[in-house]
Amino acid sequence: MKVLLLGGTGEARALAAALHPEIEVISSLAGRVPDPALPVGPVRIGGFGGVDGMRQWLIDERVDAVVDATHPFAATITAHAAQVCAALGLPHLVLARPAWSPGDAILVGSDTEAAETVAANGYARVFLTTGRSGTRAFKDVDAWFLIRAVTPPDPDTLPVDHQLLLSRGPYEYDGELALLREYRVDALVTKNSGGAMTEPKLRAAETAGVPVVMVDRPPLPAGVCAVATVEEAVDWVRAETAG
Ligand code: NAP
Repeated sequence: MKVLLLGGTGEARALAAALHPEIEVISSLAGRVPDPALPVGPVRIGGFGGVDGMRQWLIDERVDAVVDATHPFAATITAHAAQVCAALGLPHLVLARPAWSPGDAILVGSDTEAAETVAANGYARVFLTTGRSGTRAFKDVDAWFLIRAVTPPDPDTLPVDHQLLLSRGPYEYDGELALLREYRVDALVTKNSGGAMTEPKLRAAETAGVPVVMVDRPPLPAGVCAVATVEEAVDWVRAETAG
């Protein structure tokens, strides 16, 4: 039994650790960050070359099953994996961590809509946490941005008036609250990533009375088998192995 584990998340690393060395798991990372947190066991890094490249790779490597534990906003790789596995008849599971409850957040469908919402509400000091690929939509918005990302965004995508905060979670409630207050933030923009590692910013925003603009998740491809926890994914892989 050989499993391709599409990763780049804490859940994917936890799943690799839970299955290794009992089951042969090859973790796959996109190669976006120069110093990725590596899972245990074998790792391949870089894109497959689209749907055709992934299909050929799965055939060449004689993979028996695919677990997609990528980030909920990594919609392209998730669509590719669903399409290729369906075509090859390979068992395929999506591990999708539960979304956050949006609470009082202003829900929007895209980064562009989030930027329009910031402009329409006249927010002046925005904590932008949509990641290095999520800054372009805000480039021309007339506001000051505190931009938090793991690696620096392309300078061409940055709003003129900003401060960059390079860091990797997890984050604590106290630190998030202190950050909102120190920088006198008047709006938080976030994706609905879900998960405990970056959730404290939402509670801090609630305490500080800072409005939240939340980008809703892209839907999963139709018909995929999905679970919400690493434990369920472990059970699924073991059942596939046994079967
Ligand atoms: P994406 O838009 O869905 O994928 C774009 C392309 O990147 C894919 O077509 C594929 O290239 C390659 N790719 C993505 N994930 C890959 C993986 N795990 N292994 C091999 N190739 C992969 O993905 P994204 O949103 O840029 O995210 C890239 C990675 O960062 C993902 O692994 C994801 O788990 C992680 N991540 C994303 C976010 C986020 O907010 N999007 C946040 C945290 C971590 P080919 O077409 O050449 O195969």
